[in-house]
Amino acid sequence: MNQKLLRQIPKVDELMKQPVLQQLCEAVPAQKVTEAVRQILDDLRGGILAGSVEELPAVDTLCAMVAGAANKKAEYSLRKVINATGIILHTNLGRACISRRAADAACEVAQSYSTLEYNLQAGRRGTRYSHVEELLCKLTGAESALVVNNNAAAVLLILSDMAQGGQVITSRGELVEIGGSFRVPDIMEACGAELKEVGTTNKTHLWDYDRAITEKTRALMKVHTSNYRIVGFSETPSLPELVELGHSRGLPVIEDLGSGCLVDLQQFGIHGEPTVQDSIRAGVDVVSFSGDKLLGGPQAGIIVGRKAIVDKLKKHPLTRAMRVDKMTLAALEATLRSYDAGLTDEIPTIAMLSATPAKLRAKADILCGLMTGAGIAAEVVSTEGQVGGGSVPTQMLPSFAVAVQPAGVNLDQLETNLRLGSPAVIGRINHDRFLLDVRTLQENDYDAVVKAVAEAEK
Ligand SMILES: *Cc1c(COP(=O)(O)O)cnc(C)c1O
Repeated sequence: MNQKLLRQIPKVDELMKQPVLQQLCEAVPAQKVTEAVRQILDDLRGGILAGSVEELPAVDTLCAMVAGAANKKAEYSLRKVINATGIILHTNLGRACISRRAADAACEVAQSYSTLEYNLQAGRRGTRYSHVEELLCKLTGAESALVVNNNAAAVLLILSDMAQGGQVITSRGELVEIGGSFRVPDIMEACGAELKEVGTTNKTHLWDYDRAITEKTRALMKVHTSNYRIVGFSETPSLPELVELGHSRGLPVIEDLGSGCLVDLQQFGIHGEPTVQDSIRAGVDVVSFSGDKLLGGPQAGIIVGRKAIVDKLKKHPLTRAMRVDKMTLAALEATLRSYDAGLTDEIPTIAMLSATPAKLRAKADILCGLMTGAGIAAEVVSTEGQVGGGSVPTQMLPSFAVAVQPAGVNLDQLETNLRLGSPAVIGRINHDRFLLDVRTLQENDYDAVVKAVAEAEK
């Protein structure tokens, strides 16, 4: 019986001639389709030998199985997902979505030669940092600027250059660990600098810093406690106070701002996130922040500050090892130009942060209408999202979500099916409902979301 079934398994070439699979070869590389045919036929043979397959599937069914397997094989590992979590800067989902303008700029220089290190006016070598330096200075008020791969690299560079062999004074309340094992004390050690902790977890006074200054001190450092807050009986000196102390003792003040926001988020009801301009205005000598957090640009570590300090950083050997590529610089220049032109709504991160409840409600109504139109049981509910990316951790953002009641599966299965679908849709289960928060959804993805849910609830 087994032998007979085994003989009936179609040949690879035969199956490949099926019109459906021929057509599939136009969308997916033919080699992937052949691999998928082999895989499906091998599985079938295995099933027959193990006794779990007692009948050959119809050719149509086999072709559908092959198509499924081939599409999976052709899928990129790093690919788009639809974020319906309401967390704007979701680190696992790639933090900020860059703007259309930024993506176009990166795409253009990626596919052509560019002015990366070429000064067209002079007809000779230029510098890669020139493309963003002026904009960064104009937007932040700083004298000079430099861009490296990410903020962790920026902090490493600053401390290596300014504090190696000496001490840096930091408050105990600011010894931050952020995701991915970036810890201020460890970075300090890696730079050959000694961390001098002062104060207590909840309170650090100006005189704590003052008393700790010795001839070994190289700098005072402030770290923005981006992903946690110490609330209640807590106190730290203000930036201007710290700057005054540092400068009166001949010491520079360094700040790791983490997120690095260029617009005042209070206008959107988000409190406690300082701007880069605030730090420069307070007289901080060198400030570093991320490009892909609240700034809403590509991954980068941006350093702004006094010319003498930043110029020295530019010449540090580590700078070459941390240099950013042309796509990053193109996307960053475009993002900064949006800020410069006052067109911050072009930047998805800022647009998502500033979306009003009325706008979110309207978005949710549209998506919900599309869902019910497709026969899916859905309703609009109010919910809470987060900024994410280690920013403003204590504030929830009131938002709206579409809650789905799946027809044929339970909520866990719905969540799994959506996650494994193509494109993957990431939502969350809350109080026995599956929620798709519209704050982080882009309108041109609505049709894909509805289709994905219709598939996943079966
Ligand atoms: C996020 C963050 C960093 C690291 O920035 P990356 O750009 O992810 O390298 C460093 N310090 C603080 C305070 C942060 O919030």
